[in-house]
Amino acid sequence: MSGERRQIVIIGGGITGLAAAFYLEREIKKNGLPAEVTLVEASPRLGGKIQTVHKDGYVIERGPDSFLERKQSAPQLVKDLGLDHLLVNNATGQSYVLVNETLYPIPEGAVMGVPTEIRPFLTTGLFSFQGKLRAGMDLVLPASKPQEDQSLGEFFRRRVGGEVVENLIEPLLSGIYAGDIDRLSLMSTFPQFYQTEQKHRSLIIGMKKSRGNANSNKPAKKKGQFQTLKTGLQTIVEELEKQLELTKVYKGTKVVSVEHAGNGYSMKLDNGSVLDADAAVITAPHKVVSTMFQGEDWLNGLQDMVSTSVANVALGFPEEAVQMEHQGTGFVISRNSDFSITACTWTNKKWPNTTPKGKVLLRAYVGKAGDESVVEQSDNEMVKIVLDDLKRIMKIDGEPEMSCITRWNEAMPQYHVGHKKRINEIREGLKTSYPGIFVTGASFEGVGIPDCIDQGKQAVKDVLSHLFEKAE
Ligand SMILES: Cc1cc2nc3c(=O)[nH]c(=O)nc-3n(C[C@H](O)[C@H](O)[C@H](O)COP(=O)(O)OP(=O)(O)OC[C@H]3O[C@@H](n4cnc5c(N)ncnc54)[C@H](O)[C@@H]3O)c2cc1C
Repeated sequence: MSGERRQIVIIGGGITGLAAAFYLEREIKKNGLPAEVTLVEASPRLGGKIQTVHKDGYVIERGPDSFLERKQSAPQLVKDLGLDHLLVNNATGQSYVLVNETLYPIPEGAVMGVPTEIRPFLTTGLFSFQGKLRAGMDLVLPASKPQEDQSLGEFFRRRVGGEVVENLIEPLLSGIYAGDIDRLSLMSTFPQFYQTEQKHRSLIIGMKKSRGNANSNKPAKKKGQFQTLKTGLQTIVEELEKQLELTKVYKGTKVVSVEHAGNGYSMKLDNGSVLDADAAVITAPHKVVSTMFQGEDWLNGLQDMVSTSVANVALGFPEEAVQMEHQGTGFVISRNSDFSITACTWTNKKWPNTTPKGKVLLRAYVGKAGDESVVEQSDNEMVKIVLDDLKRIMKIDGEPEMSCITRWNEAMPQYHVGHKKRINEIREGLKTSYPGIFVTGASFEGVGIPDCIDQGKQAVKDVLSHLFEKAE
């Protein structure tokens, strides 16, 4: 069907699909492989969740605003694209958690809310005496029996008690996944905490030890852990698009179905045409993937997965209109507090590259598991809701001079307890019924940009070993 040259189709032009195309091209060129690559993207633009807007001198991220430097694949991709001169780290500063109406500094040494330094934890007003005592029981509690998976909520409540979870761990963790910590899988989100418990018994002791080791290699000056590009993350997308030489890119085109055809596959597109493929990497969100195949048992796993809707509201002000009593880079809000926003970044402080001189840029987030209706509000209503909330926390005079609202409907995949098992079943099902078709990306093994790039790279290995056996 496909002649001499093997046809590889990448479905979805978010960062996973783009990274896959980029590294696939490298392998094809390096090894002189007889392969052709086509990337099909549903929307008229590439980048998926990565979208930067330049408005009135502000650099506004509609989706992700940065990536973790420690996870090497993202800075490496930036380097591979020749963009490393544009990399910037976040400015460090105090971040806060809002409980009821009070902003508390996040105690120094808290790693995702787990204390690793005793003094700041003992002196914070964020927890009651009883709450601190209960958290201290982590030092003496035995490790739990090994288990396949459990929820983040169950795990942390057992280790450090309900109060530390509600006031600190929950707002920090659920902020990343916009999820419900009593449903989110420990093993698919933060398996390192489970491993720490199994190895050291106490989370506090274990985290303290690993932080101590990490710190011993660190330079004295504190550097932000996150990176972005001065011009915004979309520069990565634009450069990837520019540097793809062998890949045929179809934008504004959806793959609607994948069917067997001879020894390969035929992929129906929504414009009525058909693509032949010997192998494919599907990076579209799981709900879309589940519609591409017919009547297979393993599809149930995809259909059972849920995603939450979120939105973010970027507001620009003249400097004199905003008075912050607290110096820092932003705050998260505990679930028990009566606010619609879930967090806010003082973006001009954290990312000075984003904001013109003399201005303030605030980026507030709304929407989380169980509380998504706010995302459906009109733009005006959304700005009002956010502003009303922010005015309870800091002094803001008048209206913003710039606003940019972004809604992400069903955009945050939820890795619920049992996620790994579900993913393995889906992949096993695909391997049996559709060998050479690989599903990957944010719905599967990590939502962070570096995780998505890693998944794109792994998909390249999978496709090439399927098609050419020994090729890397
Ligand atoms: C608001 C927000 C903030 C975030 N913040 C951060 C952050 O600060 N740092 C971080 O590391 N991560 C962050 N993330 C997560 C990260 O941005 C995403 O997980 C990642 O960008 C997803 O990349 P992807 O390529 O897997 O999926 P996507 O970006 O969703 O790309 C999938 C692509 O598939 C396309 N598609 C869908 N259906 C079809 C079809 N039938 N045919 C062809 N194409 C199709 C879509 O149009 C889309 O372009 C954030 C996410 C959101 C929503």
